[in-house]
Amino acid sequence: MSSDMNQPVPRPGILDIAAYVPGKEHAPGVAKVFKLSSNETPLGPSPKAIEAFKAAADNLEIYPDGQALKLREAIASAHGLNPANIICGNGSDELLGLLCHVYLGAGDEAIITEHGFLVYKIQIMGAGATPVTVKEKDCQVDVDAILAAVTDKTKMVFIANPGNPTGTYVPGADIRRLVAGLPKHVMLVLDAAYAEYVRRNDFEAGIEIVSENRNVVMTRTFSKIHGLAALRVGWMYGPSAVLDALNRIRGPFNMNAPAIAAGEAAILDRAFADKAVQFNLEWLEKLTVAFEGLGLKVTPSVTNFLLIHFPDQDGKRAPEADEFLTSRGFILRAVKGYGFANALRMSVGTPEANEGVIAALTEFMGKA
Ligand SMILES: *Cc1c(COP(=O)(O)O)cnc(C)c1O
Repeated sequence: MSSDMNQPVPRPGILDIAAYVPGKEHAPGVAKVFKLSSNETPLGPSPKAIEAFKAAADNLEIYPDGQALKLREAIASAHGLNPANIICGNGSDELLGLLCHVYLGAGDEAIITEHGFLVYKIQIMGAGATPVTVKEKDCQVDVDAILAAVTDKTKMVFIANPGNPTGTYVPGADIRRLVAGLPKHVMLVLDAAYAEYVRRNDFEAGIEIVSENRNVVMTRTFSKIHGLAALRVGWMYGPSAVLDALNRIRGPFNMNAPAIAAGEAAILDRAFADKAVQFNLEWLEKLTVAFEGLGLKVTPSVTNFLLIHFPDQDGKRAPEADEFLTSRGFILRAVKGYGFANALRMSVGTPEANEGVIAALTEFMGKA
């Protein structure tokens, strides 16, 4: 190994990290573009959140509340939690990073799953630890495979529930079986970014599971159902000892004032979020039926996006579909980096966008 003394050198492992590539935004040469690549809501945020954001513009010279107390209290009241067990972050991404930097170091292992969110791997490696990838079963997180992968080096397990980009979920009973099987010093991170969309009786976002254990945390986001992706608002519910550790290293003003204000207004506008869930459920069903009618396989989704699998046939594979859709202004997400070379992920969009994708894929599949 050559050591270069002429410039600063990152810690070992940092340059092995493949940087996160966000969903595409542009379709060159197309007048009207529908961005369906990042699971953003087509309905925007609550008007009350926009109002609160604008009002915050009057006090931009003042530092924000470093404890984000009003936001934590609003989250606590919406979910029936103790605000002392809530920490807010600049997106849940920041919290995932803090968890890794607090609990992982060189020589440690953290378990992720085959089609798991790429941010976990980046943060695990960023902390100098080793990601251990466990197979999924039919696009579904496999709790037994995770338990089988635990070694004496394992310090953390990351699960997105529901999963992205699969859109599937692990029932609460299986999460509880996982917790029961994990050593008590191994932390389970339940990333529940899409929990609000799920309407299944056997699903648990993780609140009770966190409350009952000292080694489980749940992260949530305002980027999806609440439509505040631009402001970067995430939160975590966890045991006091975990929050105490994270609060020692987080930036003292990690949440900006407009984000705190908008987040508070958004989570208190329950009627708006309920409407967004209804809209999503209707379109999830319509889109799934339409795509299956074209002969495409769709992984059953409980989220605001769909994983569409293309035929293994010349001219009909995912890269060709991606190109075809992009040329018509519909930007979906290629998910090769998540282990799906022949699939695209589509976020539920506006009715116009959704109808447009159905029409375009009808044309694409009908092509000789
Ligand atoms: C969108 C998403 C998030 C949210 O990240 P933020 O940093 O809060 O915007 C977290 N986890 C998964 C799996 C996601 O898809």
